[in-house]
Amino acid sequence: MNRQSELSTYLNDPYAQAYPETAPFWAAAERGQLLLRTCNQCNRAHWYPRIVCPLCASDDTDWKPASGQGSLYAFSIIERADPPYALAYVELDEGPIILSNLVDCDIRAAKIGQRVSAVFRQTPDGRYAPFFTRLA
Ligand SMILES: [Zn+2]
Repeated sequence: MNRQSELSTYLNDPYAQAYPETAPFWAAAERGQLLLRTCNQCNRAHWYPRIVCPLCASDDTDWKPASGQGSLYAFSIIERADPPYALAYVELDEGPIILSNLVDCDIRAAKIGQRVSAVFRQTPDGRYAPFFTRLA
């Protein structure tokens, strides 16, 4: 299987099909790149992605590459799950706060303010989504 045929799994995903304006986000996620909807008027990024900027009401917004870096804003370990997992709010360096999960790290050593970095995992629906792992 070549690389091209491995990509674009999101195209068969009903969610991605229902919201075609999100296609660039899913395509970038599949390549391991986080995109943020960013306003060309106030130059601020927002989350979740909207066509009209929620910060200044301009409709001049575009997808822009984000660093994928941020800090742990808040988290909760879901102990009743097997295995337990950590639901986390991550404050991206670009400003928005994104709800995700901590993965690939010791979630019990997590602390508010720790640096985290985006990693992409395939969801049961087929598309790739951003998760976060602790740095150091
Ligand atoms: Zn704006």
